[in-house]
Amino acid sequence: MIGLQAEGSMWAIREASRCHVAGKKTILIVEDEPEIGELIRFHAEREGYEADVIASGKTALEAIRRRPPDLIILDLMLPDVDGLEVCRQVRWDETTRHVPIIIASARGEETYIVTGLELGADDYVTKPFSPKVLMARVRSLLRRLDASQHSRGQGQANLARAAGDRLVLDRDQRTVAVDGAVVEFTRCEFEILDCLMSKPGFVRTRDQIIAAIHGDEMVQTSRTVDVHLASIRRKLGALSDLVQTVRGVGYRLDESIVDDGEE
Ligand code: CA
Repeated sequence: MIGLQAEGSMWAIREASRCHVAGKKTILIVEDEPEIGELIRFHAEREGYEADVIASGKTALEAIRRRPPDLIILDLMLPDVDGLEVCRQVRWDETTRHVPIIIASARGEETYIVTGLELGADDYVTKPFSPKVLMARVRSLLRRLDASQHSRGQGQANLARAAGDRLVLDRDQRTVAVDGAVVEFTRCEFEILDCLMSKPGFVRTRDQIIAAIHGDEMVQTSRTVDVHLASIRRKLGALSDLVQTVRGVGYRLDESIVDDGEE
């Protein structure tokens, strides 16, 4: 489904990215299996990115510090420094903490995915993966980062939108509008929705959601997060399917929903 949607919007994305291609965006692929590394590099270059493959976590960390790439595709099972440690160090280092990371790993177990996301990876793809799907995730992440930088630069109103503007979250007014009508959200619910809407399509773990609402006096647990999410879904009404449960991992805002008409 992701693949199909990506194909459909590819033209628009290419058009949009054309305006800021001063130099090519650089992608560092950290992968110790040569065939997989080359396969990703092939697809990345075909997409117009400059791509390098490094097979060791230690060498990758040195290269990342020397010249931070625009995005890192990171395997977890590496011969020396493993991928989770690479992720942790990239996020610790002031000069590299902004660099987006997509984990691409055969370690599909929940604990690895959850740990990777909590260490600050932006997304994950489990092996075996389709290179097209991986590239769609790459484009999506880079496009979103560009868009948020652009709107910050323009000093635009601090809004998050989804489902073709049927859902609008206003961070300045702290309001949520569903199909044009303002719906009452508690502070926690607002923070959680903001957390999901700030990265549509990307999974947020329950602990990340708890961190996003840390100011609340109430002690938050995984269970209370689930309760908040149930309430958010009710308040979203016809748009409740926007919030998806990712089993064993957390929640995400569905970015694939297009306006399919009012009932
Ligand atoms: Ca590996």
